[in-house]
Amino acid sequence: MGRSGNGCAGRRGWGRTALRSATLPLALVLTTACQTNAADGPGTAEASLTVRYDRPSGPDADDAAFVRERRLPEEAVRHVTALVRLDPPVVMTVRSCGGEGPAYDPRTREVEICYDEISETRRLYQDGGQGLSDDALSAVLLESLFHESAHAVIDVLDLAVRGKEEDFADQFAALMLLRQGAEGEERLLDVAETWRLSAITYENENEDDGQADEHSTDHQRAVAYLCYLYGAAPAHHADVIGTDTLPADRARGCAREWRRARAAWMNALGRPAEDAVSARRPGR
Ligand SMILES: [Zn+2]
Repeated sequence: MGRSGNGCAGRRGWGRTALRSATLPLALVLTTACQTNAADGPGTAEASLTVRYDRPSGPDADDAAFVRERRLPEEAVRHVTALVRLDPPVVMTVRSCGGEGPAYDPRTREVEICYDEISETRRLYQDGGQGLSDDALSAVLLESLFHESAHAVIDVLDLAVRGKEEDFADQFAALMLLRQGAEGEERLLDVAETWRLSAITYENENEDDGQADEHSTDHQRAVAYLCYLYGAAPAHHADVIGTDTLPADRARGCAREWRRARAAWMNALGRPAEDAVSARRPGR
């Protein structure tokens, strides 16, 4: 089935959207001093990333309620702005996307996140015959929030990206989750499982992928996320190694792979490597 259109995810709507147009080159001096731009930023002069809720379309009302009650965009903003300040500022709009998938629009500097991703994810798990907890569902939306925020960061900071920007954005999502400590590790596991499930459930539809979309395949993304999770703490996550999850020969390189990905982001953000680790962890 192909993810079609402007790089938007098809996959029965489940998936991600590529950057829809070329990155705007913006000169930018990165400041690292200020972390006061809080999650509920609208209204504060310092806010560099703020949340806006659009009115959901009728069928998305329950999804919108879920996102609002869990305050997922606000949580994502809090984590992103703890590491980086965006100037000019970016708006994170949550809206009904009609299956178009989330995106970042560099013309308006707007991260677009979709209420309907909630029910699309529920549908994926139904189609895949698996149960889905609200926490796992939250993790999936957070990954979208972080992934699209990464496109905004890359754009606003005018970061030079080596390799595929989509992979770099996934690495940012992994970094944001792994900074949350044990809870984030659990979330990253849920995210990887969701990509894995999408790969096996919608396998036939994904056969044509690779031309219309810049993202790695669902299977590749699942494996990469498990690789980062494992690589960040091999002693704790040996259980993710398996033939249909993280192949052992890939796992061997994951500590290095994650170290490099993490360092690339921290260098790009002008932050010391220690900041990549959750503040809640002992000794940090
Ligand atoms: Zn993307």
